Amino acid sequence: MSLDSKKFLLQEKDIPTAWYNVTVDMPNKPRPMLHPGTKQPLKAEDLYPIFAEELANQELNMTDRFIEIPEEVREMYKIYRPTPLVRARGLEKALDTPAHIYFKNESVSPVGSHKLNSAIAQAYYCKKQGITNITTETGAGQWGAALSLAAKHFGLELAVYMVKVSYHQKPYRRSIMQTYGAEVIASPSMSTKAGRKIITEHPNYQGSLGTAISEAVELAMSTPNCRYTLGSVLNHVSLHQTVIGQEAKKQMEMAGEYPDIVIGCFGGGSNFSGISFPFLQGKFDGSRAATRFIAAEPQSCPKLTRGVFQYDFGDEAGYTPLIPMRTLGHNFAPANIHAGGLRYHGAGAIVSQLLEDKIIEAVDIPQLETFAAATLFAQSEGIIPAPESSHAIAATIREAKACKESGESKVILFNLSGHGLIDMAAYDQYIAGDLSNYEVTQDSIDNNIDTLEKIIK
Ligand SMILES: *Cc1c(COP(=O)(O)O)cnc(C)c1O
Repeated sequence: MSLDSKKFLLQEKDIPTAWYNVTVDMPNKPRPMLHPGTKQPLKAEDLYPIFAEELANQELNMTDRFIEIPEEVREMYKIYRPTPLVRARGLEKALDTPAHIYFKNESVSPVGSHKLNSAIAQAYYCKKQGITNITTETGAGQWGAALSLAAKHFGLELAVYMVKVSYHQKPYRRSIMQTYGAEVIASPSMSTKAGRKIITEHPNYQGSLGTAISEAVELAMSTPNCRYTLGSVLNHVSLHQTVIGQEAKKQMEMAGEYPDIVIGCFGGGSNFSGISFPFLQGKFDGSRAATRFIAAEPQSCPKLTRGVFQYDFGDEAGYTPLIPMRTLGHNFAPANIHAGGLRYHGAGAIVSQLLEDKIIEAVDIPQLETFAAATLFAQSEGIIPAPESSHAIAATIREAKACKESGESKVILFNLSGHGLIDMAAYDQYIAGDLSNYEVTQDSIDNNIDTLEKIIK
C-alpha cells in the first residue's frame, strides 16, 4: 500500500455564509411534527419551551432557501473550517478499482467529528436568547463533546446524559466532555422520572439514545432558563450540517469532477444530510438528475431498510412531539455495537420523506464488514475512522468493487464524519476476533412497530 492521496483545500473566505434549506426545493415537503395530545401540526411557539426560539423557527422554516450563518458562528467555524476534500488514491489502489473515490474530512474538527457544525450554532442561539443552561444526550459521546466545547465558548452550563453502554465503552469521551467543563451523567440515571422508571423495570438496561433524550428533555423542562439541544434527527440540525456539502461542491469543482454517488453513514441523518443536500439541488433542478445518494446504516439498527414510515416519538418516554420518521419504533433497543452514534430508532423527517420519494437510497451493513473497511481505509489513507463513519466507507467499497466488475469509473464521494482515535477499544476487540454481527429478527421489529398509532395510513 502507498499513501499518496490528494487534498483539495479552500480558504476561510470560502466558508459558506448561509445554510441551505433543502425543504424549499423538495417536491413533497416533509410532513409536520404533531402535538402528541391533539395530533395537530406544531407551531414554532409550541417548541419554544424546549428549544431556543431561533432554532424552533428554523425547524419549521420551509420558505427560505438560504438562512444566513451568524458572524459569531462563522468565526468559530474558522478554527477548523473549511475542512479538506481528499481524493483517496491509496484506497483506490488498494481496491484496484477504476472508481474515483473522494472523501470530505470532517474528522479534522477539534472534537473529531462533524457534530461541531451544529453544536456551535445551537449554543450560539441559546446564548443570544439569554439562556444560561442547556441539556443534551449523547451516544458514543461525539455530540456531547462537540456541545461541551461550544457551550464553554459561549459561556453556557451544560449537562449531558450519556448512554450507559458508551459511558463504560468510551470513558475517554466522558473525560473529554468533563475537560471542556460539562457535567456528564450515565443514562438511564436515577436523576429523572424517565430514568428511574426504566431502571426499575429493567435494572440492567444499558441505555439508548431514546432514553437519554427523555432524561435530557425532562431536565430542561424542569430547570429554569434551561433548554434542550439535539445533535441529529431534527431539521435544524441537518440545516447546519449543509456547510459540509456546500464546501464539498466547490472542492469537487477544483478537482474537475462531479460525484455520481454521494454516501454518508446514518444515525439520525445529520451528516448524511450535510454532505447530500447541497448536491440534491442538482437532482431537483435536473442538471445532475442521475446522481445517487446512499445512506449507510448498521444491520443491527435498520430503520431505513426495514423500518416503517410512521409518526413516532423521538425518545423512549414519549416526551417529544410526534415526528414523521422511518422508524423501528421508539422502544427498539439496538444491540451494543461500537457505532454508538448510529444506535437510534428513527430517521429525521426530511430524510424519511426523501426515502419515501425514492430520491435517496439506503443500505444496511454488518458490523464486521464495517471494521474490515475501516482497517483497509486506515492502512491505505492513514486515518483511523470512527466506527460510525466506517459504515460510509464500507458502502463506498461496495460501490467501488461494483465499478471494478463493470469496468465503469464512477466518481464516489463519501463523508468521513469522524475519526476513531477514541474508539480504539473497539478496534482491539475486532483485532482479537471478539466482535460479531447482529441481525435483527423480523419479530422484534414487528413487535415494536405494532405499538405505534397508525397516523400515516
Ligand atoms: C453522531 C455521529 C454519526 C451519526 O449521526 P448522524 O446525525 O446520522 O450524522 C455519524 N458519525 C459520527 C462520527 C458521529 O459522531
